[in-house]
Amino acid sequence: MDEHDKRRVGEQIEPGGRPKAPGRLELLQRFINSYNHDFPREWDRIGTPETAKAWLRQKRLVAPADRISEADVARLRELREAIRALAIANQGRQPGVAATDIIRRVSGGARISVAIDDTGRTALEPARRGVDGAVATLLGILHEAQLTGHWSRVKGCRQCGYAFFDRSKNRSAAWCAMSICGNRTKNRAYYRRRRTSTR
Ligand SMILES: [Zn+2]
Repeated sequence: MDEHDKRRVGEQIEPGGRPKAPGRLELLQRFINSYNHDFPREWDRIGTPETAKAWLRQKRLVAPADRISEADVARLRELREAIRALAIANQGRQPGVAATDIIRRVSGGARISVAIDDTGRTALEPARRGVDGAVATLLGILHEAQLTGHWSRVKGCRQCGYAFFDRSKNRSAAWCAMSICGNRTKNRAYYRRRRTSTR
C-alpha cells in the first residue's frame, strides 16, 4: 500500500477490502478510524481545530458557524480512544475502567432527544449544537448499535487498534486485515521463535 492509499484508509479504503459497518454505525467506525496508530501523528483527521472542523462538517456533525477549540479537539480525541478501547474489548474482554470513565465524563454535555416524524418513526437527535451535539450523535449511534447487536461486531484490531466490522460467522476476526496486521503479528512471533531457537 503506498502513501496515497494509506491516507485514504478509514475513509475511502477498508483494510483487507472488508465491508464497512452497516447504516449509521459506519459514521462511528470512521470516527474511531479518523486516526490509525500506525500512521504519522499529523495524519490524524481530527488532530487540530481546523482539521476536526473540516471532518465534522463533512460528516454533518457540526454546522458551518460552530466553533471548535483546542479543548474540543482534546475531548474528541479522548472520546475516540475510549470508544476504540470498547471496540478492542469486543475481542472478548472487559473494557478498562479508564475508557468508560472518559465516556462518562465526555458525555456530560451531550444531550439527546427522541424525535418523531409524520410516519411515527423515532430517531435519536442531539439536543445541542457544536461539539456537544457531535458527541451526542456519536454516543447515540453507539447506543443504537448495542441494541441491534451490531456493536459487538465492531472490533479494534489486536495489533493497530483499527476498528473493523467483523462479518465472519463465528465472529473470530482479530486483525484489521490478515494481509497487514495478521501477517505482521505472525512474522513477529516467527522471528521471536527463531531468535530464541538460535540462542
Ligand atoms: Zn491492524
